[in-house]
Amino acid sequence: MTRAVLTLNAGSSSLKVSLFPEVGEVPLASGLADKIGPEGVLTLKDAEGQPVAASGDLSTHAGAMAAVIDGFRAHWPELDLVAIGHRVVHGGADRDAPAPVTEALLAELEALSPFAPLHQPHNLAGIRAAMAAFPGVPQVACFDTAFHRNQPFVNDTFALPREMYAEGVRRYGFHGLSYEYIANELARTAPQLSIGRVVVAHLGNGASMCGIVNGRSVSSTMGFSALDGLPMGTRCGQVDPGVLLYLMDQKGMTAAEITDLLYRKSGLLGLSGLSNDMRTLETAGTPEAMQAIDYFTFRCQREVGAMAAALGGIDALVFCGGIGENSRLIRARICERLGWMGIEVDHAKNAANDRVISTHLARTTAMVIPTNEELVIARAARAAVGLQEAAE
Ligand code: AMP
Repeated sequence: MTRAVLTLNAGSSSLKVSLFPEVGEVPLASGLADKIGPEGVLTLKDAEGQPVAASGDLSTHAGAMAAVIDGFRAHWPELDLVAIGHRVVHGGADRDAPAPVTEALLAELEALSPFAPLHQPHNLAGIRAAMAAFPGVPQVACFDTAFHRNQPFVNDTFALPREMYAEGVRRYGFHGLSYEYIANELARTAPQLSIGRVVVAHLGNGASMCGIVNGRSVSSTMGFSALDGLPMGTRCGQVDPGVLLYLMDQKGMTAAEITDLLYRKSGLLGLSGLSNDMRTLETAGTPEAMQAIDYFTFRCQREVGAMAAALGGIDALVFCGGIGENSRLIRARICERLGWMGIEVDHAKNAANDRVISTHLARTTAMVIPTNEELVIARAARAAVGLQEAAE
């Protein structure tokens, strides 16, 4: 019998899956159902990267889930799926931990959809599809907001009339599963640093920073939505709200048009006019691509400074996400003007993608820690069925 837990991350037209064993960090398999609809594509791979054959009806999320599990069952005939963990973007103001999926929880999370209209409905549709595809298997929801829910009021609010805070217009912060993984990794591998003041830079197609003290989130660059803070692949990052008033008042743009502009046409893509992909920009060499990189690294530098101020100092800067884990150029560029806060990169270590990339003498440790949001979800799913404590 192969007892396993499944992790699911449902987007509008995609489904990311990983199958984890009862214990351990390495998934038995992982994969992606992409372009769910008439042209759906499903790719599954085992732990060695070998393809796991799978096919089926990819026109809906429920069909894609059935195809995934059929593929797994053909590969592991003795498969016993004991729990399913879901990534859910929004858990609201009070949820600071994963929660078992019930009808009451789904109703609560559906009420939050207006706060995250581009993600929450798809996450919830994924849960409903999994309930239909795997009746009787316990499910647990893991929230991207949960890690940040105990931030001080000054980091949780905007300077808007108080009733808006009560209504839920707050700074929630996102990428919480990634930050939780990094906080746990630090506690496991660098306990001295983990009780200190750590700034984590999750730099991928989505990008944010989180200030952590003694394992707890104190400050984050993403706020009410996943638009705020750092510039991203196609998202704008922080922008003067006056720009939005101008677009509405003077250019007559609708909410849908502004949403499209801020979420899909801005960031690295908007500034470079070329691509949202950092690798492409690093090799392009056009003035616009270089300016996009300059803006990205400058805003990262600024936010490290702001985070350090919020934390009262900084003991470590940790990079993760596709850019943070792989781009030595961007890491070096971000660190290069932060010497005043004790950050000093060892260029050989940085080029080798070492775990510690700062010099021996640097006051502040700079690190690269590959993040693993799926493992955080798998741990929560295991804990939900008593397989293991949430933190292994
Ligand atoms: P993620 O969303 O975390 O998968 O990160 C995607 C981003 O990471 C894209 O902008 C990629 O171009 C970037 N990325 C991945 N590998 C590299 C690399 N070797 N050098 C620079 N950027 C990279």
